[in-house]
Amino acid sequence: MIRSNETNNISQKINSMFASLKWDIRLRRHAGQCEIMSFPEKKLHRITLPNPDHRDQLRPIEYLHELYHAKLCETVHPLFSGSIFTQNSNPEYIQFYTPLFRCVNDWFVDGLLITLCPEEELDEIKEHTEMILDNFEKFNSGNLAEFCNLNVCRISVLFT
Ligand SMILES: [Zn+2]
Repeated sequence: MIRSNETNNISQKINSMFASLKWDIRLRRHAGQCEIMSFPEKKLHRITLPNPDHRDQLRPIEYLHELYHAKLCETVHPLFSGSIFTQNSNPEYIQFYTPLFRCVNDWFVDGLLITLCPEEELDEIKEHTEMILDNFEKFNSGNLAEFCNLNVCRISVLFT
């Protein structure tokens, strides 16, 4: 549970991270959840936030997580923008590797978030871990890549 002083603290970190981004930013609203797509070739981030009336409120720790993807894309490697494939990439490879790239990206982002705001991030990881374990039977019948995409990497963060 996030207490009010933690919310203010994380809001400051969000504002600081947002202000540190050097590429152009396009903001938009939609009916889904928060996501950031980065386009290294255009030096552009497209930040999509949920509509204010969306059933799932924007969670500050998730927004900060997305901003970290953008920051790492600018400063470390374009792969942090998400999965990058050429137009000629084999669709089977895209389907197989996309969850793995996401898993690795999230492992780095979550590792940084633990150092920046450990209580909020550990709460987030624990919540996701419980969700994964609660649904393990359902997802265990799927493929491994899909299971990884559901942030199984976050479990490893808990035990490192
Ligand atoms: Zn992520």
